[in-house]
Amino acid sequence: MSQIYRREFIKLLGAAGIVSASSGILLPGIAAAKANARVVVVGGGFGGATCASYLRQYAPDLEVTLVEPHKEFITCPFSNTVLAGMKSMDYITHNYDGLRNNRGVKIVHDWVMDIDTIAKKVKLKGGSSLPYDRLVMSPGVSFNWNEIEGASEATSQIMPHAWKAGAQTILLRKQLEAMKDGGTIIIASPRKPFRAPPAPYERASLIAHYLKKSKPSSKILVVDSSGESEALALFRKGWKKLYKGMVEWVDGSQQGEIVSADAKSLSLTGRSVGTIKGDVVNLIPPQRAGDIAKIAGLVDKSGWCPVNPLNFASTLQKDIHVIGDACIAEPMEKTGHSASSQGKICAAAIVTELNGGTMPSVTYSTSIYSFLGPKYAVSSAEVFRIKRGKLVQISGGMSLEKASRKTRLKEAKFATGWYKGITTDMFAKK
Ligand SMILES: Cc1cc2nc3c(=O)[nH]c(=O)nc-3n(C[C@H](O)[C@H](O)[C@H](O)COP(=O)(O)OP(=O)(O)OC[C@H]3O[C@@H](n4cnc5c(N)ncnc54)[C@H](O)[C@@H]3O)c2cc1C
Repeated sequence: MSQIYRREFIKLLGAAGIVSASSGILLPGIAAAKANARVVVVGGGFGGATCASYLRQYAPDLEVTLVEPHKEFITCPFSNTVLAGMKSMDYITHNYDGLRNNRGVKIVHDWVMDIDTIAKKVKLKGGSSLPYDRLVMSPGVSFNWNEIEGASEATSQIMPHAWKAGAQTILLRKQLEAMKDGGTIIIASPRKPFRAPPAPYERASLIAHYLKKSKPSSKILVVDSSGESEALALFRKGWKKLYKGMVEWVDGSQQGEIVSADAKSLSLTGRSVGTIKGDVVNLIPPQRAGDIAKIAGLVDKSGWCPVNPLNFASTLQKDIHVIGDACIAEPMEKTGHSASSQGKICAAAIVTELNGGTMPSVTYSTSIYSFLGPKYAVSSAEVFRIKRGKLVQISGGMSLEKASRKTRLKEAKFATGWYKGITTDMFAKK
């Protein structure tokens, strides 16, 4: 930030009133000359909804349009509690009324089919186009079906991934309900990076909670392509305590990941695990940035979108920012909390830059709570900063392996509070 801009910036803070984000950024409203700037946000999930909301809070004169095909957003966080019968689908379903009515975000329910990066226009399935000065992309993930022979979008109707919440969540729950006692459930999780790395373990735990009550002779086999980790150790301890003998973990890392699937016989084949057959098969495929990111020329050969972590600007396309699961922001994990934190920082950066300034370096945060049972949860939290142009973790950690039942119960309460807080914030509920 130049000295002149810094002085103007401070004057503006006094004149326009200060908006404070949880990221610790103080911002003026948008300067008059840029008041009619148009920002289009693609994807109304954790990153996109949060970014749209904060753009309008930082700069109430800015025209912000959020494009999201679905009228309601169903969150992946807490979807495992639906599988366990602890919560309903209604609990994890949210609408866009708050963003529309309380923030003045224009909501367009449509699919983005293409982006003209030269003319700076977003092309919609409905036939119209939306011009932008800045574009924010938060399209989440797509699946690399081609990496598992025999698996496809079509076979996910038989072996659901339930890694995008909604119809897939309901399907997996119905399969669990229909399964006989004594059945085997296979949860096959992909290698990193993928969205929500501890969520397959939470899923195994909460399915075990359901089975323990209603089908106690059943078994869960977790084929894990991520291998051993600190988080896994915490879960294994909990499984031993809560679901002795019910959850078996198999190391699918080191070339052991699932390479083929047969929906007819409900079997999976991995190099180290051989061919295994389940009664319910939850096949979570390897992942990449949402398809529209590739169409827009935002992905590199890793399948994800490289960005400058200071403002989440794409390093491949001008005036486009990528946030959430789709962007490369390691060591930040791909979580809803990360996406929300990135959405706020990206919003602050866009407003700062439209005002002629440069985004200052700030801290980034994430956390993830996981349930092992209704009264038993664990968590991890991390804080990051940019050093030499790269995000580095500066603090954080996870729940201790040794903790009392009271502590685990407290964490379960915090998890519920976290969910209420983040969904109220991202959907601008009152
Ligand atoms: C089982 C499970 C449990 C999880 N639990 C947690 C948790 O407890 N805590 C946590 O922090 N995270 C959790 N996560 C991770 C979290 O869901 C993701 O990290 C988060 O949703 C990422 O946000 P996003 O904005 O990148 O993508 P999303 O939230 O998926 O939003 C992407 C949006 O983009 C839209 N979109 C895609 N393509 C287009 C297009 N072409 N045009 C228009 N719109 C488009 C989609 O419809 C979607 O609404 C969990 C994930 C799973 C699978």
